[in-house]
Amino acid sequence: MLIPLLAGLFGLLIGSFLNVCIYRLPRDLSVVRPRSHCTTCERTIAWYDNVPLLSFVLLGGKCRACGARIAWWYPVVESLTGAAFFLAFWLFPAVAAVKASLFAAMSIELIFSDIEERILPDEFTIGGTLLGLVLAVALPTRGSLAMFFGPNAHAWAPSLIEAAAGAGISSGSLWLVGEIYYRLRGREGIGLGDIKMVAMIGAFLGIQGVLMTLIFGSVMGSVAGIAYILLSGESMATYRLPFGTFLGIAALAVAFCGGPVLHWPGFWA
Ligand SMILES: [Zn+2]
Repeated sequence: MLIPLLAGLFGLLIGSFLNVCIYRLPRDLSVVRPRSHCTTCERTIAWYDNVPLLSFVLLGGKCRACGARIAWWYPVVESLTGAAFFLAFWLFPAVAAVKASLFAAMSIELIFSDIEERILPDEFTIGGTLLGLVLAVALPTRGSLAMFFGPNAHAWAPSLIEAAAGAGISSGSLWLVGEIYYRLRGREGIGLGDIKMVAMIGAFLGIQGVLMTLIFGSVMGSVAGIAYILLSGESMATYRLPFGTFLGIAALAVAFCGGPVLHWPGFWA
């Protein structure tokens, strides 16, 4: 229980960094410099006002200097990341736990970046795809393709092929769907960011995992999108669904519940 708890605390800190990324990456600002500052009055935030979760509660969700409201997603991102890191190290063996927490952190960034800015930063989509491929070699897991390899095969070979196929097949299919939609309707249905994000998910979750994510995310996104349009009265032609947000939620559900619930090996073995 100690290790999952420490991982959870570390996750809170990572969540705090993800907040910086969610705000700064779409604005092309450095995520390292300058130090955290209030986005309204620009004043630098003291370390004691920058403690994940705790400071938000103590400050009542307001900047100490100017009293401006701190965006609602700051504490949400921090708690979600903390919870994901805790769960990863509680549920999975060490190698899978490291992968699952990194994957969760990137997915959470993308979920909120898409809600807030309708942007899926390349740092997390392309960068995440590359990281997934590197980790498939460095920390191999038994994917669904392992059965096609002999017992003497290097562990990283099926793991890397699974990750590469997961990234390639899923993003390729989504690109094709988007292209067909574009030809038929004459407007973009699926953004390039979504396609790159799906590659990242495939590189981590493998073929079965990313396909489950695509199905689950599309169903969820369609239902939520139609409900939103009906309730808000916004026009179907102009509303832009944050598809990446739904993909991210689906990916987290598959990564954390897919194995235990569906008895699907891959991420965990
Ligand atoms: Zn302020």
